[in-house]
Amino acid sequence: MHCKSVHCKSVVHGGLMAYPARMRPGRSKASALFEAVSAAGRAARVRFAGERIPLAARIQVTRRCPLSCAYCKLPAEHGDLMDTGTIFRILSELAHAGCMRLSISGGEPLLREDVGRIVEACADLGMAPEMNTSGWGLEERIGEVGRLELLKLSLDGPEEIHDAVRGRAGSYRAAVRAARGRGRMR
Ligand code: SF4
Repeated sequence: MHCKSVHCKSVVHGGLMAYPARMRPGRSKASALFEAVSAAGRAARVRFAGERIPLAARIQVTRRCPLSCAYCKLPAEHGDLMDTGTIFRILSELAHAGCMRLSISGGEPLLREDVGRIVEACADLGMAPEMNTSGWGLEERIGEVGRLELLKLSLDGPEEIHDAVRGRAGSYRAAVRAARGRGRMR
């Protein structure tokens, strides 16, 4: 699990920032039709074939993190958990199993060089990509992860508390900047 602080819809405590890509003006009719057909197919598999489908999944792509939260030991464990090819294979298997939403988490997923490709692959496979992130480094990489449909940011409190809990000065501002940058998602 990336962040253990509670996510809610408040920006002040545990911010959840949603980017409603499904409602974006640029979304094509073909894409909407594809999703509708896929959803109908899933419903039929459950209703008539009695299948159990993993509608949502989460993948932990790294344990690396630029922060060191008081309640987390992931950064001390170091390293990425899977190479790109392994992640792509898992994404493909999940998509074929009927998964609709995939949450990409860490550690801090934005530390992975291939995070943009992971997001793209997820979207290309018809799953809605989501990301759990501290927001650290998002501004620099926002162009790579523009197909995210949901970005989850946590705030642990006012700036001095957040930075103290997260073990790094500037982490509050990074999260707030990331939240404000949502308008630049494509
Ligand atoms: S931001 Fe990093 S250190 Fe903090 S809880 Fe998430 S993974 Fe752990």
